[in-house]
Amino acid sequence: MDNTQRLIELFKEFPGIGPRQAKRFVYFLLNRNPAYANDLARLVTEVRATVHSCDTCFRFFLNDNSKTCPICRDNSRDKKSLMIVSHDVDFENIEKTHFYNGYYFILGGTVPILENNPDKRIRQKELVENIEKRISNGLSEIILALSYNPEGENTLTYLEQILKPLTDKNNIKISTLGRGLSTGTELEYSDSDTIKNALKNRQ
Ligand SMILES: [Zn+2]
Repeated sequence: MDNTQRLIELFKEFPGIGPRQAKRFVYFLLNRNPAYANDLARLVTEVRATVHSCDTCFRFFLNDNSKTCPICRDNSRDKKSLMIVSHDVDFENIEKTHFYNGYYFILGGTVPILENNPDKRIRQKELVENIEKRISNGLSEIILALSYNPEGENTLTYLEQILKPLTDKNNIKISTLGRGLSTGTELEYSDSDTIKNALKNRQ
């Protein structure tokens, strides 16, 4: 396989990118001046080397020689609440509203309907460990902030099931943000006001 073909194969692995689009990316790069491709290559390497996943909430943050991100380290945040989101971009959208002051956990995915191994699709083990640690710090509410679409709903139902023994035993309330959004709403594409309202009206 020549390098052009290998590059096409790499782009094909991007979310939502098929063979034709992957090919268009490569020809786009070849048509631009060499500085563009150099910038891109350098930035990909630098970002990969300097951005790390937090060992507590698993979101990506600019490495500052700490294993834990600035939000997880921030003791002034509300220890009573933990918000669970699917992806980093959901976290960003919620944090941007300045309406929530608790901690977060990034699941890293969703659970598709009829999935045989749901625990492989999300950071289930890490989530349970995270919650167990937070219980001794006064955790009293877990907010499931998932998209209001079939896959988000399925993830929500699955999480309610697996967390129930833990939350029942420790008197922790599970609330959902999804049902405050209108049907079919992806958290990723929701504006700040919509998210604020969903947070205010969480059930
Ligand atoms: Zn963190």
